[in-house]
Amino acid sequence: MTPTSPINTDQAVESNAWIDPAPSPLLLLLGERTDTQSERGVDCPGALPAPSDPDLAARARAAKDTLGDRVFVLGHHYQRDEVVEFADVMGDSFKLAREAAARPDAEFIVFCGVHFMAESADILTSADQKVILPDLAAGCSMADMAAINQVEDAWRTLENAGIAASTLPVTYMNSSAAIKAFTGRHGGTVCTSSNAATSLDWAFESAEHVLFLPDQHLGRNTAIGDLGMKPEDCVAFDPRKPGGGLTPDELRAAKMILWRGHCSVHGRFTPECVDDMRARVPGVNVIVHPECKREVVEKADFVGSTEGIIKALAAAEPGSAWAIGTELNLVKRLAEQNPDQRVLFLDKTVCYCSTMNRIDLPHLTWALESLVAGNVVDQIEVDPDTAHWARVALDRMLALPGA
Ligand code: SF4
Repeated sequence: MTPTSPINTDQAVESNAWIDPAPSPLLLLLGERTDTQSERGVDCPGALPAPSDPDLAARARAAKDTLGDRVFVLGHHYQRDEVVEFADVMGDSFKLAREAAARPDAEFIVFCGVHFMAESADILTSADQKVILPDLAAGCSMADMAAINQVEDAWRTLENAGIAASTLPVTYMNSSAAIKAFTGRHGGTVCTSSNAATSLDWAFESAEHVLFLPDQHLGRNTAIGDLGMKPEDCVAFDPRKPGGGLTPDELRAAKMILWRGHCSVHGRFTPECVDDMRARVPGVNVIVHPECKREVVEKADFVGSTEGIIKALAAAEPGSAWAIGTELNLVKRLAEQNPDQRVLFLDKTVCYCSTMNRIDLPHLTWALESLVAGNVVDQIEVDPDTAHWARVALDRMLALPGA
């Protein structure tokens, strides 16, 4: 397991890392202490209902009904069906954060997604609303790849190369609140996979360089595919290497300085997956998320954000075949929702987002029943200073054309 892998309970048990008094923050089991170094905390007080309880769905429904308008449940597209059933609204991370902000009367926002999404919801909601993440172990391996101390070190490297003053940071929504706040403090903005090109266009109006965090693939795909840059305009900054593994001259020559982060789920798709699929299903349309590697995007027919993929399938010709390169819960749901099309998963092996899958029916039931009992559990709270500067970056994005 590398430091960039998602939490994997089996691997953690196998390695016994969870009984180490100073474990790697990436090897914590559900309910085992608190990870203070990562954007993903782990603490699960109280007893979870057994997954085998046949009344679990009825219990969750009863608790939600009892709470009524006091609770609003958000469900990300990558969530399990058993959880999605209880969502008041579905969406990608940005849509869900805005939905939370549009519900000022809801006392509790239960976010069925991952940690950085709940942070964004907390930033965009009022101080008296409480955002709940039913399992605090639901982090995001990509967001974890950019720690604030690493990013501050990287900025000093840019200062030493003499380019910090002509660089703007742009961070993907899939980053911690601390990274969004860093971006806000340094004049930059947040972007989603839908508006990354607009955000970069805005940044390059006033900057010569962009430090793009934390997903190198979204940054590279947007710079080359949408802005027409050359591959050599992009460099990958490796936070584990001195100077990012780049010389000052390489930094000065680059337009896009890409943080060397990636999504462990979308990173599984390869050009061979596309070739195999085309050989097996002649005429298939291949659509992939821009978190996929550049060489996969180049082989695909279409590239689209999560919402873009959903729209493409909704508008597709009946009888057409689609191979989709994104998270498997969403692909399975798209197959069910589009029975007149042949919907296929681009990889041959199972590829769920393990941290998204942390939110299951036992955790959701536990969180809702705890709220009914007057116990606010697993609340996500961003400190006021971080929230202020993260909000500055988010507001810059909201002011962009088409936001
Ligand atoms: S799919 Fe990738 S980017 Fe999304 S939450 Fe999972 S690890 Fe993070």
